Amino acid sequence: MATLGNPQETIAVLQKYGFNFQKKFGQNFLIDTHVLDKIIAAAEIGPDDFVLEIGPGIGTMTQYLAEAAREVTAVEIDRNLIPILDDTLSEYSNVTVINEDILKVDIAALAREKNGGRPIKVVANLPYYITTPIIMGLFESDVPLSSITVMVQKEVADRMQTGPGSKDYGALSLAVQYYAKPYIVANVPPNCFMPRPAVGSAVIRLTRHEKKPVEVKDAKFMFKLIRASFNQRRKTLQNGLHNSGELQIPKEKVVKALEEMGLPASIRGEKLDLAQFARLADLLME
Ligand code: SAM
Repeated sequence: MATLGNPQETIAVLQKYGFNFQKKFGQNFLIDTHVLDKIIAAAEIGPDDFVLEIGPGIGTMTQYLAEAAREVTAVEIDRNLIPILDDTLSEYSNVTVINEDILKVDIAALAREKNGGRPIKVVANLPYYITTPIIMGLFESDVPLSSITVMVQKEVADRMQTGPGSKDYGALSLAVQYYAKPYIVANVPPNCFMPRPAVGSAVIRLTRHEKKPVEVKDAKFMFKLIRASFNQRRKTLQNGLHNSGELQIPKEKVVKALEEMGLPASIRGEKLDLAQFARLADLLME
């Protein structure tokens, strides 16, 4: 039975080991069983699943995951948490803890070893200082993946889910939506964590597309274009792409491509959706 997930037990474990929170590791531990139940339900974990957990902390969510999944591997950077995890997870024979920086782990190799190369599920209450590198690293590498269900900063969840026309729309929205379908499962206030974070949080599920939503000849080039467009958000696309250090595309070329797409020469990048960026990338490559 999962024993953690409430303030009393969490405090008891932390005191038993004299644990000191490390701000640099983004340590905000969950102390709300309702939120934990919601995360597990949204991740749709079944008894055949292999789950990768990033940053188990004292093992609160790990206990829930171990009860729902076939096998769990949890990667934790803070070595002071390892003896605590040995203790809180001692009842579970289907959990492996790796003391490592997740950004240095070969996750594709882990999926091969633990799941025969079949798609894995990633579930985590993420350390907020490395949310984007973790998520983009998972999508851009060869990791076989079916979904990522994670707690992130609320503002970041909004950016991942939104489309053109919103102030939150940007390169992250397009990058995430190229690989996955985002769905915000719940907003989570600071009092569900110990210590309380300074920002609001949200649980988001990213279900990986089986087939990409758009076809593009060179996705890397499209993302360069997207980054350049949003780097200079307030400029028109023709000025932004012309002035971008990385691309420096002649203005006439951009205007001609926009014309072919039936878009005005004065349009800004923030008005284009993913399909339009894909088309623009293909036209500019010609
Ligand atoms: N899962 C726990 C919970 O929900 O209570 C803890 C979540 S806490 C927000 C983030 C966890 O990620 C911490 O335990 C922290 O030490 C760990 N962490 C931070 N950076 C990491 C990294 N680069 N690789 C692996 N774990 C990391």
